[in-house]
Amino acid sequence: MSLDKRCIVIGAGVAGAACARALVDRGWQIKLLDIAKEPCAAASGVPVGVVSCHASPDDNPLSQLTRAGLQATIAFAKAHLIEGQDWSPVGVLERRFAESDKAKKPWQEPGEDSVWFSHVKLAQEEQLRQAGLNADSSHDLWQAQGAWIKPMALVRALLSSDDILFLGLHEVESMLKSPATGEWVLRIKHHIPIPGMGSSFTYTSASAPHVVLATGAHTPDFLNQVLYEPDMGLHPIAGQVSWGLQAPSMGEELPKFAVNGHGSFVAHVPTVEGLAWYTGSTFDRHESHLIASDEAHAHNRQRLGELLPAVADKLASQWNDTTQIKAWNGVRCASINRLPKLGPLDEKRFPGLHMLSAMGSRGLTLALLCAQAVADRIEGKPPVLADALLKAMQCELPEA
Ligand SMILES: Cc1cc2nc3c(=O)[nH]c(=O)nc-3n(C[C@H](O)[C@H](O)[C@H](O)COP(=O)(O)OP(=O)(O)OC[C@H]3O[C@@H](n4cnc5c(N)ncnc54)[C@H](O)[C@@H]3O)c2cc1C
Repeated sequence: MSLDKRCIVIGAGVAGAACARALVDRGWQIKLLDIAKEPCAAASGVPVGVVSCHASPDDNPLSQLTRAGLQATIAFAKAHLIEGQDWSPVGVLERRFAESDKAKKPWQEPGEDSVWFSHVKLAQEEQLRQAGLNADSSHDLWQAQGAWIKPMALVRALLSSDDILFLGLHEVESMLKSPATGEWVLRIKHHIPIPGMGSSFTYTSASAPHVVLATGAHTPDFLNQVLYEPDMGLHPIAGQVSWGLQAPSMGEELPKFAVNGHGSFVAHVPTVEGLAWYTGSTFDRHESHLIASDEAHAHNRQRLGELLPAVADKLASQWNDTTQIKAWNGVRCASINRLPKLGPLDEKRFPGLHMLSAMGSRGLTLALLCAQAVADRIEGKPPVLADALLKAMQCELPEA
């Protein structure tokens, strides 16, 4: 019997958009639903993010995944985004701090046969100098393939297909497998804004044999309230990014590349108001608030002082004038083992229901690769990722 290629994806962040695109590229028809009016209304609305590998000398699962994920994201960006505007392959300097290095194995410069060879090297004196850092006894790393990217541009490009129907203001409230058709039937609250009077709603429904949950930090609530299942240990991590517009005189003074370590720093990012720099973010575990605070700005400022002391000094007068510092707040979804959760939720109890969530702080590096893994699984194709990696990411609902 041929596969019925209709799928509903719930959640129009980078995970949902990447799943929609992975399936459409294989000939599927997608309905993409989101509570918000437009895509990227939640975590994927972060104005800019860093795409980089998690470097570990023992090549742990997150390292393997981020290395492959980076390549998938960069290949898509090269083909579909405007370089310098939507993304930029500027490279990433990864700072490794002396005190945390004690817990880590020292980085050995990779040989040509190493999986890290084209990804991670010890940082050169010139890179450290450009970041205003002392080259002596540095353990910092250089990721030549690293980049910054604007998730909104990425998601817009992922969704540019006539076979993806985006339905905003569509909140999935419940879903059941129809005994008559075998399809999932979703009950959807359709929010209707009424200018000057708030909003109203009606109910509608949608059905398809396959559904992908890509609900980000809403996933624990979705599992509890829609499927009556436990949250699989997924938890929210709220964060605030601090950012400001760059004075023209700053052009040569801020590093051209992105910097990661304790928080991150990215500059020279074009916005409608001019070039901007971004730093942060805060990391409030088990919190899902979206309130910008001066305390979070102060935290980001202090961490920038540790990450890039010379840059923090150059931006000091801007930080002192609070009207010049802006905030963006969002909530990530993380799992206990810090890996995404993907694949079928429970093939026996919920046939046709898949998930891609818990992208943590690396959704921009991982979503496109993970979406291919979800699409492979839905189509019953042999997985591209190693079995051990897929096992580490599988959804684990307790037996009923
Ligand atoms: C402060 C901050 C900084 C970050 N920096 C980086 C970075 O530098 N690099 C990086 O790679 N990543 C970064 N991330 C992480 C990245 O943003 C996330 O991993 C990624 O955006 C997650 O995408 P998602 O699609 O899983 O979730 P989301 O973007 O949150 O999308 C989930 C969507 O599901 C919708 N939804 C939920 N429930 C329902 C429902 N019942 N019905 C319909 N729709 C529903 C929501 O409205 C939402 O739009 C950062 C995140 C934060 C918060």
